[in-house]
Amino acid sequence: MFTVPDFAHLQQWIIRSTEDDVRRALDREHVDIHDLAALLSPRAEKYLPQMAARSSRITLQRFGHVTQLYAPLYLSNLCVNRCAYCGFSAGNRIPRRTLTLNEAEQEAMILHERGFQHILLVTGEAPKAAGVDYLEELALRLRDRFAALSIEVQPLEQAEYERLFRAGVTAVAVYQETYDRAIYQQVHLAGRKCDYDYRLDTPARAAAAGMREIGIGSLLGLADWRAEGLALALHLQWLRKQFWRTSFAISFPRLRPAAGEFQPLAPVSEKNLSQLIFALRLFDHNVGLLLSTREEERFRNGMIGLGPTRYSAGSCTAPGGYSQPDIEGEQFSVGDHRNLAEVSDALIAKGFDPVYKDWDKEFQVFNLESLSS
Ligand code: SF4
Repeated sequence: MFTVPDFAHLQQWIIRSTEDDVRRALDREHVDIHDLAALLSPRAEKYLPQMAARSSRITLQRFGHVTQLYAPLYLSNLCVNRCAYCGFSAGNRIPRRTLTLNEAEQEAMILHERGFQHILLVTGEAPKAAGVDYLEELALRLRDRFAALSIEVQPLEQAEYERLFRAGVTAVAVYQETYDRAIYQQVHLAGRKCDYDYRLDTPARAAAAGMREIGIGSLLGLADWRAEGLALALHLQWLRKQFWRTSFAISFPRLRPAAGEFQPLAPVSEKNLSQLIFALRLFDHNVGLLLSTREEERFRNGMIGLGPTRYSAGSCTAPGGYSQPDIEGEQFSVGDHRNLAEVSDALIAKGFDPVYKDWDKEFQVFNLESLSS
């Protein structure tokens, strides 16, 4: 199992970096974990333009002029956990709803008609309302209509991920929220999510189940973003060694206004977020980098081609929100309200091709066979 170094140790590691360390890191073809600590440090801030240029060059070499697009589909806002920062937290008074399978299918088809071929199925953690049986049935209904189905749901056991993989789910996103154990305990007030280690081990269970892609990340605004970046990179490095056939992606969710009025404990500016994205791109040339509609149009347009490889578009974070735009019960308010066509146009204007699927279905045959071998 992956173990996270002491968070204070990570912070010290970063803070000790000198300007020479930063310049050396920028000169290297392959940035190691020590170089990454320098690139995440305050000393690197004045080198942001050089980091952006390098990140852009690597991203273009590895991914070309292509940006993938996807949309989240919120299935349920019920949750048994109390996470201080989340609109779905069990303690918040919001209208609660779990879509029936037919309603979920209708919402999915609205996204399909809008042009999406990759959707991310999202729930709170309420296994009785939206458990594995429910997700499996929905995936079976949708698998032939979409190029890719991802999930962002409660952490599951390996055997449960295997069931969902066979039903057509190909990717799992599960964010540690914060790698700082003390802050983790402070913001997770009740429910199974209080178990830091079980959550930390979840990406490995999903990868062991044969999922094609695993998404990891930290919720930015809870703890020191620089140390979060280093912990994320160590986690990614460990996962890559254990699961060399799996693709990995990193998301950068920054805290957004939500029910409960939680205020960030450690605010992260757009400049900080840019440094984090560039540093991680220099560290891992192949990792997918996601920038969701949590961020505003201006920032997302500015980041096109500089590191991120996948954007969400036209997102609604309340179950049923695609068929009923005024529905209440959202997880958080989004920062970029553009639809798929508008985000696509912004990409095209910068010379990028919007791509609506992230892989060819034929690969799934390979993965299924390898799972049973
Ligand atoms: S972050 Fe997830 S587990 Fe926590 S309250 Fe929100 S939906 Fe539930």
